[in-house]
Amino acid sequence: MQGGHAPRRGLALEEIGLIEDAAVLCGGGRIITAGPQRSILGGPKLRDLLRKNRRKVREIDCQGGVVIPGLIDSHTHPVFAGPRLVDFEKRITGATYEEIAAAGGGIRSSVAGVRKATRKQLSDHVLHAFNAMLSQGTTTIEAKSGYGLTLEDEIKSLRAIGDAARHWPGTVVPTLLAAHVVPQEFTGKEDQYVDLVCRKIIPQAESDKLATFVDVFCERGAFTLEQSERIFAAAQKAGLGVRAHVCQFTPSNLHTLLSFHPASLDHMDCVAQHDLTLLASQDTVVTLLPGANYFLGHSGFADARRLIDSGVAVSLATDYNPGTSPTPSMAFVISLACTHLRMSPREAIAASTINAACALRLQERKGSIEPGKDADLALFDVKDYREIGYWFAWNRCSQVIVGGMEKGGLCG
Ligand SMILES: [Zn+2]
Repeated sequence: MQGGHAPRRGLALEEIGLIEDAAVLCGGGRIITAGPQRSILGGPKLRDLLRKNRRKVREIDCQGGVVIPGLIDSHTHPVFAGPRLVDFEKRITGATYEEIAAAGGGIRSSVAGVRKATRKQLSDHVLHAFNAMLSQGTTTIEAKSGYGLTLEDEIKSLRAIGDAARHWPGTVVPTLLAAHVVPQEFTGKEDQYVDLVCRKIIPQAESDKLATFVDVFCERGAFTLEQSERIFAAAQKAGLGVRAHVCQFTPSNLHTLLSFHPASLDHMDCVAQHDLTLLASQDTVVTLLPGANYFLGHSGFADARRLIDSGVAVSLATDYNPGTSPTPSMAFVISLACTHLRMSPREAIAASTINAACALRLQERKGSIEPGKDADLALFDVKDYREIGYWFAWNRCSQVIVGGMEKGGLCG
């Protein structure tokens, strides 16, 4: 699958460059060449090279299966201590957010868990999640902090991500999400918490080289547009990239946020019509997270068709987190995109690979099977690429190649 270095928009999101009977030649962790087996393996130069290096070459027969670029999960919250079963059970009975919090659930229970946990306990948990993602074909993960909400606990969370990343073969992009929710101790003095984020937490995350991006939850009940802009400005001053959770429950005016050129705006369930043209003219990717709508039992989903047909660059991610989307499976998200966002299987795969790479600004290295890019591949035990989203809640990923090495999957 070829993708180039720009996000796919409109009709181009359908073009996944499908090749039948294909071969991929990797070396030094990169893709050397890819294309029809006959032309790749039949050329005299390559035949000669393979003959000379016969002992060093490892051939993997995909047995008629499907090979796609390693999936890219560009939005996850893996630093938490345990599942939120109170939320899960209470929500079934129709309990409100306040009732769930009163029963000991909600985001504050995750915050209490992270504050109590050691860095080692958190990194073990993060690594467990990363490995679950890898076994389902994900080779690049964006991972956020966001359940610590103090200087010490946000830095501990980012260090836990870094520790897990060092023991994991794929690529991890760490994001500081200290502005996830205002912690209880700052109730009524929200701006003081924003000061702490801007003046202490962001500068320390940057000086300790713990984060690539800064994220903010811009939503009623979380952070206002004005507070989000302050956080973006502080991130830019520190030289970090920006991204935001926005328009999940209520629409927001995106004009000012977009002036900071965020890599991605995520959720975007309710985007105002006047922001579509602006979004279509920028490289900011819109990352849709249908796993959260599914798990919350919502009947409404983001209007992916309107976004794609307006020329907005759309990607997909799991939003892996304990409260609203505890799934490590990008294949399940692809399935949801096909069944609930009315995206075609081709669009959903491009949105989970090349456009997801763009959402992390990694499109030079990731997201497509092209010479020079990292040799990250996911092999699926299916005969047709459409089966990846068809067999929902069934892991059909049989092998994962990371940097040219076999690393995971059911048989890896
Ligand atoms: Zn999220």
